[in-house]
Amino acid sequence: MRAMRTARLVAVALVILMAPSAHGQTATPPDVDPRVSTLVASISESRMEQLLRTLVGFGTRNTLSDVTSTTRGIGAARQWIFDELVKASPKLQVNFDTHQVPKGGRITRDVELRNVVAILPGRTPRRIYVSGHYDTVNLGAQGQGGLNAGGGYGNPADNADAPGADDDGSGTVLVMELARVFAESGMTFDATLVFTAVAGEEQGLIGARAHARAMKAANIPVQAVFNNDIVGGSTGGDGIVDGATIRLYSEGPEDSPSRALAIFTQRMAARYVPSHRIRLMARRDRFGRGGDHTAWNLEGFAAVGFRESRENYSMQHNANDTIDGVSFAYLAQNARVNAAAMAVLALAPPPPVVANERGAPTIDRQPSGYDAHLRWTASPGAAGYRIFWRQAWAPDWEHEQFVGNVTEYTLPHANVDDWVFGVAAVDPDGHESTISAYVAPPPAY
Ligand SMILES: [Zn+2]
Repeated sequence: MRAMRTARLVAVALVILMAPSAHGQTATPPDVDPRVSTLVASISESRMEQLLRTLVGFGTRNTLSDVTSTTRGIGAARQWIFDELVKASPKLQVNFDTHQVPKGGRITRDVELRNVVAILPGRTPRRIYVSGHYDTVNLGAQGQGGLNAGGGYGNPADNADAPGADDDGSGTVLVMELARVFAESGMTFDATLVFTAVAGEEQGLIGARAHARAMKAANIPVQAVFNNDIVGGSTGGDGIVDGATIRLYSEGPEDSPSRALAIFTQRMAARYVPSHRIRLMARRDRFGRGGDHTAWNLEGFAAVGFRESRENYSMQHNANDTIDGVSFAYLAQNARVNAAAMAVLALAPPPPVVANERGAPTIDRQPSGYDAHLRWTASPGAAGYRIFWRQAWAPDWEHEQFVGNVTEYTLPHANVDDWVFGVAAVDPDGHESTISAYVAPPPAY
């Protein structure tokens, strides 16, 4: 009996010794910020439906379609998107991001291309984007089904019916609804939020590439891009229905900024929209297909691509991409997971830096030679840090632990050769940064 009690006392003493020092002691912040929950809950399924019904009414939004009519074609559509964003909130700075695109590739004549951009200024210039493409295309009756079967892109008729309800009217109205909800939330965000509906996606990500290049050339700190393209249908062409999950694609390798953003997005979705699940895809995009997140990746920015869980290829890139292929309850859930991730990232402290000036990860084996000793830089605004680890053969974090307001931590008997480690900063309201991973830079062979 006495021996047991002594053992227990020794154990308690050890725990106290291992705990962070007094100045570093912090209660674990809550996982959920009620203000973010309120914002997420204010997304309106019926408003998204109203917006999409009007958007498909323009008949076609082909980048090469008519720009003189006020009722049909891409000219009328982009002006309407612009006007709706202005109407949504006086806090939004709405503009056309205009590019002169010369004839070439799928662009069959010189054309003026306009992205619609709405900016909600934050306390800092760091930017977080949510994006969809408002242009459409009609490749003939077979649509994407024909392309999947080995057909070519052909020479689509510029003014043929291309309602694009799902591709990508769904992403466009998701962006428009998030613009309204964030601007009218009454909250002030640290990050500047940018809501974009871009054009020229169907001819090769042209609008997104032009914008991403301009941001890079101007040294704008773009932290993240959430791209939404085909996010409204819950019934696949094979008849399988899945209204409870969405796929999220991200460029590798593992622990790349885009992968870290994908994992972050899944974590925040689980906290704020537990009824909806994100299925992470460790690949750039679907087979033989691309999207605007890749345009951002090509300029070195972190970007991820949302895609509905089950696609129906016979209702893409033809006149059949109509509103009856869209489930508004599903689309609203997809908007909610975007909103949760965007809001938390816009409020969270910057992720800790876990490498020195030479790029070497700040991790070593001390004190025993067989421990994991992690060091990181302090993130302004952080109330504490959460560390993560996983086996070196695992794609996703397996363990996590809040360690208080410290900038180093030792996990005893954790061999750094066998495990991958990471750390995130957390503020007093529980806003968590993306996870910075301790990964070796690629070898210089
Ligand atoms: Zn698309």
